[in-house]
Amino acid sequence: MNFKEIVELLKNESLEEELALLADEVRKANVGNIVRLRALIEFSNICRQDCLYCGLRKSNSNITRYKLTKNEIMSCISRAVKQGYKTVVLQSGEGTCDIDEMTEIIKFAKQLGVYVTLSLGQRTYDEYATYRMAGADRYLLRIETTDEYVHERLRPYTKMQNRMECIQHLKSLGYEVGTGIMIGLPGQTIESISRDVLYFKESKADMLGIGPFISNVQTPLKDFPNGDIHLTRRVISVCRILMPKINIPATTAVETLLPNGRDLFLQSGCNVIMPNFTPENVRSSYSLYPNKKALYKSRNEINNDLERIGRVVD
Ligand code: SAH
Ligand code: SF4
Repeated sequence: MNFKEIVELLKNESLEEELALLADEVRKANVGNIVRLRALIEFSNICRQDCLYCGLRKSNSNITRYKLTKNEIMSCISRAVKQGYKTVVLQSGEGTCDIDEMTEIIKFAKQLGVYVTLSLGQRTYDEYATYRMAGADRYLLRIETTDEYVHERLRPYTKMQNRMECIQHLKSLGYEVGTGIMIGLPGQTIESISRDVLYFKESKADMLGIGPFISNVQTPLKDFPNGDIHLTRRVISVCRILMPKINIPATTAVETLLPNGRDLFLQSGCNVIMPNFTPENVRSSYSLYPNKKALYKSRNEINNDLERIGRVVD
């Protein structure tokens, strides 16, 4: 598919079901009926960035800031491991990290025999290298949009080039890298989303986190509409068709805008879900956007849900 063809597919609303069906077949042929589970631990909402779309932005004084202690994070990891999870995802705002502490946490998880995914935002090459040496396997850093003008208006303190370099650094350090975008950012066009899709291929991403933008009243984007869930679905289907073996999660933002969206998207190209292991007392403070429909189900419930759509846990 070239740029023009991607644009045409994404613009054509009537192709949604057909694209999803094809993506579902491609998913089945290439990654099978297995659904990969990642236990998500949102360990801090402290952030030095000021992304206009996000509730954790540093200018938002309406949320209670928290950071779990090393022991609390370790006990979340242990809880996930006890339930049979093979990957833990440690995510946070872009706060200053205690590098030694993070290293200890990574080593702790590796000793328990699980894969470690980090999602801590933009960091120096050396910091990424230190975590990689400690055993971290994967890193999630969405490019958010490759439209430089939109990117830099929405992310005032950084350059898009810097985020792209971070992604290259992570790749060169041997991380499996997840990137991705939001759909429906103010100023974003179908053309720019099509270029994002080509960027995913070019950057040799291993994973793609894609979800609709959800308007947050505590941010400067409060008056902008939510992203289009149908367009989101077409983008995901096109990504699966273009990148048959990649990991694509059915994201929480999708479920937030569409009840049972997680299941629908698992049948439109996705093959990953991320059950939430953030402790109950801080969950509501990890408020990127309102009404977040994170996945809090038990392993049994998840197994049953997946069975209903003909899928099995990895
Ligand atoms: N601070 C790190 C990781 C946490 S944010 C980082 O920025 O990389 C995780 C993701 O949440 C972001 O990549 C962004 O795509 C998404 N996000 C933030 N605000 C959102 C909103 N209002 N609607 C939908 N997704 C949002
Ligand atoms: Fe911070 Fe990430 Fe939110 Fe940007 S998207 S404000 S870096 S938590």
